[in-house]
Amino acid sequence: MRSIAIVGAGQAGLLTAHGLVKAGYDVTLFSDKTPEDFLNKSRPTGTAARFDMSLDYERELGLDHWADEAPAGEGIHLTFCPTPGNILVTLLGRFEKPFMAIDLRLQSARWMNDLVERGGTVEYEAVTIPRLEEIAAANDLTIVAAGRGDIHKLFPRVDARSDYSKPQRKLAMVNTNGQKMGFDGTDMLPVKFNFFGDSGEAFWVPWFHKDKGHGWSMLFEAKEGGPLDRFDGVTSGEQAVEVGKQVIKETVPWDYEWCKDMELLDENSWLVGKFTPEVREIVGTLPSGAKVMSVGDTAMSLDPIGGQGANNGNKMARVVVDSIIAREDLNLDEPWMRETFESFWDRHRYINLFNNLLLEPLTNPGKELLIAQYGSTGRTDNASGAQKIANMFSENFNDPKLMTEAFLDMKKARALIAEQTGKPWWRAALAGRLAIGKQQVRQKLGKAPNHPGMVH
Ligand SMILES: Cc1cc2nc3c(=O)[nH]c(=O)nc-3n(C[C@H](O)[C@H](O)[C@H](O)COP(=O)(O)OP(=O)(O)OC[C@H]3O[C@@H](n4cnc5c(N)ncnc54)[C@H](O)[C@@H]3O)c2cc1C
Repeated sequence: MRSIAIVGAGQAGLLTAHGLVKAGYDVTLFSDKTPEDFLNKSRPTGTAARFDMSLDYERELGLDHWADEAPAGEGIHLTFCPTPGNILVTLLGRFEKPFMAIDLRLQSARWMNDLVERGGTVEYEAVTIPRLEEIAAANDLTIVAAGRGDIHKLFPRVDARSDYSKPQRKLAMVNTNGQKMGFDGTDMLPVKFNFFGDSGEAFWVPWFHKDKGHGWSMLFEAKEGGPLDRFDGVTSGEQAVEVGKQVIKETVPWDYEWCKDMELLDENSWLVGKFTPEVREIVGTLPSGAKVMSVGDTAMSLDPIGGQGANNGNKMARVVVDSIIAREDLNLDEPWMRETFESFWDRHRYINLFNNLLLEPLTNPGKELLIAQYGSTGRTDNASGAQKIANMFSENFNDPKLMTEAFLDMKKARALIAEQTGKPWWRAALAGRLAIGKQQVRQKLGKAPNHPGMVH
């Protein structure tokens, strides 16, 4: 039986381990945390909302333990403001199938125990480079899924595929409860995205906490120096909640009433920091010359803006597992590692492309799409062309191959609008502009805009 070692018990390492155990491989997972450490001493590494394509792999591996209890996210409710105070447009799109964000600590603890029950081995140690040499020598393949832990430096950045050389946002995640599970103005449970053209984004994700169940992961993506950039010097979760409330009151006032009583879910359920989004080499070379392979955040770091990092790791784990199985008895060597990553990149490079587009000012084709979908309500009985475009936009988070190219190409954007509305593109563009213009006039007159999904 082929032996495979995996370093790291996050989402990516554990999915790879389970995929391989299911296929009959001899798997040893090395983790610097025990299940108890995850549950009692750790921060979640992110919100990790996963969409249907990713959840599908978890179902296939028998790891979807929380599907009946966790909040099922039904759509995206986006509010776009070129500047705070100018609410230009809303979008309410529905997913075909729900998304879920499960506390990664609960997930790692349970999936590690599952792995042992199903025949895998788990060893607890913080793997160093000399130890990685021993592990690589003793196994047919060694996979490093250590997130941005120190050993990720074995995998150099790939300049040609990395758009950034410094962090694009200053991040804060505060996981809370006390808010109701939904919003006035919509009958779906959405991720609520607030985009501010000049200062960053603030979004609220329905989240499932390890002990307390339903809650919200509140994320702030601040551009430096702007009104969201307020979390420097925050040293406790309680403080992060208070700063978050203040930021919402000043910048996202339409959501303040909803969250003014929110409370921190536990002393570890928050994060503040920043990192550079980048694509790294799939192959790492140890001092001896032995080769190891990267998966998940070790291979690619994505800014949380598009909720893609865990989804990316999940999709990558599936490609890697399938490629190991397809390789049968041949060597799992460097050329094979590179081929495996290229087949992943070929199908899923849109993840990186879409995610990074969200970090940039909206493109002109993107504006056309946003205008054409204006009027979407997210209601199941809304069969309008505008609603279809909004639904497709939501579905693009599940599979960014769907419409990312339309954000970059006006011809494609207009063809998509015509296809979804069943009318010439310019009709939707004109109708959207008129309706948005009307709300701009209301705001100029000092009145609140009557956008779909907004209740004042
Ligand atoms: C604020 C925020 C919000 C996010 N929201 C989303 C979202 O909504 N949707 C989404 O898809 N993604 C999201 N992400 C990204 C997502 O959380 C990550 O992409 C994902 O959790 C990474 O999983 P991973 O297994 O690759 O790495 P990790 O979760 O970092 O796991 C790596 C594990 O390896 C262990 N380890 C490290 N070094 C060693 C060592 N030497 N020896 C042994 N073990 C080691 C670590 O302790 C850790 O347990 C978000 C990220 C952030 C920061």
